Amino acid sequence: MSAADPGARRAEIADGLRRARERLDAAARAAGRDPAEIALLPVTKFFPVSDVEILYGLGCRAFGESREQEAAAKVAEFRSRTTDPAVAWHMIGRLQRNKARAVARWAHTVHSVDSVRLAHALDAGAQAAQESGDRETPVRVLLQVSLDDDPQRGGVSAADLPALADEVAAAGGLELRGLMAVPPLGWDPDAAFERLAGLHSGLRSDHPEATELSAGMSGDLEAAVRWGSTCVRVGTAVLGSRPLA
Ligand SMILES: *Cc1c(COP(=O)(O)O)cnc(C)c1O
Repeated sequence: MSAADPGARRAEIADGLRRARERLDAAARAAGRDPAEIALLPVTKFFPVSDVEILYGLGCRAFGESREQEAAAKVAEFRSRTTDPAVAWHMIGRLQRNKARAVARWAHTVHSVDSVRLAHALDAGAQAAQESGDRETPVRVLLQVSLDDDPQRGGVSAADLPALADEVAAAGGLELRGLMAVPPLGWDPDAAFERLAGLHSGLRSDHPEATELSAGMSGDLEAAVRWGSTCVRVGTAVLGSRPLA
């Protein structure tokens, strides 16, 4: 990063964004899909709000964050300078139940709901935020599913997914929108995303509104697009290596 030279940083990010979009468009065309139906979500975790502002200047209106405290501070700083209701902040990282209330104040979409307890806490937070005027709409929710049923790494098991989907669909403060997953370490991305696509189609037969599929990162977005991703979460390929925390 070259914080000393904002012009150079802008050029670097513009280049990263352009290359990531080119990869995404090529992957969509190779899969016989319309590139317009796949969103590119820049992941700004660990990067300063100045980088978010550069992305905004380049036309981005949605940003992914993975840690509540960092995100809340960044959102507040961004909003102190830019009041654009079109800007949407996405929580993509693992979410603890005791942070759900805080996340409900700033998150447009949460990609990482993986338990009924967390869903209930987020629902309560969303309703409180609507009552206090901190938000106007329900929190859009993607359910994070585990592809290898390893409880350590986050994600609801495939067996528990239908019950969780029903809970979220019934919650007044939440809006069920789809599914998210991260391939388990060491898995072939195509095998992982094929399994995810199967789970998504099962979810959609019960909940037709759950059309979104958040899948693919810098290293595996092509495979994710082959298997139906509607949102790739791209950090490194757009912004470069993350600074150490
Ligand atoms: C950090 C992160 C990303 C972005 O990863 P890159 O490899 O930098 O593109 C995507 N999804 C989640 C859940 C993340 O935490």
